[in-house]
This record gives sequence, C-alpha cells and structure tokens, in this order.
Amino acid sequence: MPPTSWTRADLAALDTADELASFRNEFRLPADLIYLDGNSLGPLPAQAAARVAQVVEQQWGEGLIRSWNTAGWIDWPVTLGAKIARLIGAAPGSTRVADSTSVNLFKLLAGALALRPGRPVILTEAGNFPTDLYIAQGLAALLDRGHRVVQAAPDQITARLDNSVAVLLLTHVNYRTGRLHDMQALTQQAHAAGALVIWDLAHSAGAMPLDLAGCDADFAIGCGYKFLNGGPGAPAFLMVAPRHADSFTPGLTGWFGHAAPFAFEAEFRPAKGADRALVGTPGIIGMAALECGLDVALAADLHEVRAKSLRMSSILMDLVDQLCPGHFGLLTPKDETLRGSQVSLTHDAAYPIMQALIARVVIGDVRQPNILRFGLTPLYLRFTDLWDAAVILADIMHNATWQRPEFQTRQKVI
Ligand SMILES: *Cc1c(COP(=O)(O)O)cnc(C)c1O
Repeated sequence: MPPTSWTRADLAALDTADELASFRNEFRLPADLIYLDGNSLGPLPAQAAARVAQVVEQQWGEGLIRSWNTAGWIDWPVTLGAKIARLIGAAPGSTRVADSTSVNLFKLLAGALALRPGRPVILTEAGNFPTDLYIAQGLAALLDRGHRVVQAAPDQITARLDNSVAVLLLTHVNYRTGRLHDMQALTQQAHAAGALVIWDLAHSAGAMPLDLAGCDADFAIGCGYKFLNGGPGAPAFLMVAPRHADSFTPGLTGWFGHAAPFAFEAEFRPAKGADRALVGTPGIIGMAALECGLDVALAADLHEVRAKSLRMSSILMDLVDQLCPGHFGLLTPKDETLRGSQVSLTHDAAYPIMQALIARVVIGDVRQPNILRFGLTPLYLRFTDLWDAAVILADIMHNATWQRPEFQTRQKVI
C-alpha cells in the first residue's frame, strides 16, 4: 500500500529502484527544469543533434541527390514506419511515416468513407481534439455526399453505433481529460455495427503498449513529436490494416502513392499496400530526428513505461491532495484502466497558475477553459521531480504568486 502521506525520501527510493532511470541519459534536458509537457512536445534525444548534423552535412551537403539512393532516403517512410509498427503493435508493412497527423487523418478518413458507401455518419467523441473534428467536418463538406460528424459523450459512443455509422473516429487518450478508451472493445463494437475505425494515437503511441493488430483496428494515425520525441513538427504516421490496403483510395493521391513514381505516368495507379497513402517527397531532416526518438522508445519495454506512468500519475494526484488540499478539481480518471499518461487539474485561474509554474521552471500547459495539464513521460521523469513540482505548485497557491500581473498576459501558443 502507498503511504497516505508521501515524503521526498519515499520518492527518492522509487527513483533508486526505477529500472527505466537510465533512459534519462538518452535525452538532453536543461538541469533544474521539470518537464511535464512531453505529451505536447517531447525533449531532444541525445543523439538527434549529431544525427541531424550528419544528415545535413554529409548526406545532403556531400551526397546531394545521390543520397536518395545511397543513404536510402527514399525508403525512410517505410523503414521508420516499420519501427512505429513495432511500437503500436501494428501488422508488419502496415505503417508509414508521412505528412502531419491532420493530413494523414484527411487521407485515411476519405479512404474509409469510400469503403462504407451509403452510411452518412462519422461518429466521434465530443471534446475530441479540434483538428480531428475540423478535418472530418471539412471533408464532409468537400465530399458533399451528405456525411455528417456526430459527436457523442465518451460513454454514449457504444449506444450511438448503428448502421448509419461509416467510420468511428476516436482519439485513444483524450487530450484534455487524459481519459483512455478501450480500443479492443470499441473496435469490436464498431465492426459489429458494420463501421470502420480510425484510431488517433497522438497521446498513446510511445506512452503505453498498443496492439493495433490484435484489436483488429482498421486505420490509425499519430504524432511524431509528443511521446515519440521526434522534434517540433516531426513527421507523423499512418497505419492501414493489410486487409484494406489494396482496396482503399486515400483522399490525396500524389506521386509517392503511385505504383511506379519514377515511371512518371500520366494516370494515377495506386501503389500496393500502405504505400498508396504516401503523397509527396518526405521531409528527410525531420525524419532523421524522429528516428532518434523512435530508437529510444524501441529500447524501452513499453509495459514498464506504462507501469511507471500509472504510478507517477497516481502519485502526482496524491501529492496535489497532500500539498495543495482544496485548491484544484481533478479531471483525469482515478481508475487506472481509464487513464492515459497525464494528470489534468482544473482551476479558474489555470493560465496564470501555469505561468507562475513555468517561471519556476516547472513546465506543463493549459487547455481551455480551465485545465492545467501535466504529461507523465517515464523515460526521463523522476519520481522526485513530481515531489519538487508539487512543492512549487503548493508554494504558488499558498502565496498566491500567480496573481502577479506578469502572469496574466496571454501568449500566442499556450
Ligand atoms: C496533437 C494532436 C494532433 C496534432 O495534429 P498535427 O497535424 O500534428 O498538428 C492531432 N490529433 C490529436 C488527438 C492530437 O492530440
């Protein structure tokens, strides 16, 4: 049983016993900074700067166009995709690194809707990440075939699955609440209703073991720059289940998705398999950085990552109760089977409180309307970081330092 009241020494003991502790050396983090925002932008992998420099100076600078072949650039969407497939438990050959999450959603959603003609509904979660909603709404308008986006509360999704639903589009872990969906059960229920499923793994890839193939998921998309630590605006990924790969047409048909891109034919002929979901020339420098993040994640046991993440989130909730009693509401489920890898607290002054925390180099973020969000990233966070962050938060609340004028000004990116 955990102590009813934690001490810093308890947490230091957890750090000493932590089998993942050495992974912190795989990242470059400023000393004294407590980074609780790796669910938004992961830190710099220790190898990434040298690797990017090598790709820029040697492969680009010296090799020039030859590097598409000699350095294998042309295959990186596939080879990095294969690494992601291992991280998300997807079938071999089903996953590609390409474009952004938003663009990948557009491509796959268009393809999935065409596989379910006559069904008008794109069913999603109310409160899903806005880009997912906007892409679905925009695609429905563009297609002009009567599709509509229906948003259901998380516990109403099952009830809303009927034969009008073409696609169930869900983010595995909600970005605001941190609530985790049951991928296996929902995929099964969607299939029973005759619908296809697209999983957005933005907040779960790299954060926990996933079994896309075992769940029989149809399609998935996800982010390279959150728990995969691929760098700002890193290329994203997409997964097309092998059973759909040769029958679906992505919403964007570019030359990299052609069966023979370098035949320069005048008519589009789709490539075999998931390659047809590629569009244009990949961003090589971004992929070089992403690969460093993927290699760190692949070296870790994601079951251990998940166990440490749950331990950390429950300890952080305990510490907020213990050190800041009565100050915050809790949005993240206490039930571990419903919890992703973050803790979300609520407070009417969320924004200035977070600014005050950031001024003390404890970095999280805020989400509308009143949410303080703390990402738990077991590869580089220490249990004592949670203690130190909670002590600073308590100090800010007890002394009301968040009320200072300098913490009230809103920046462009929050
Ligand atoms: C972060 C996030 C995205 C980001 O999409 P981009 O195209 O990379 O901006 C998409 N979906 C979800 C659920 C996210 O959390």
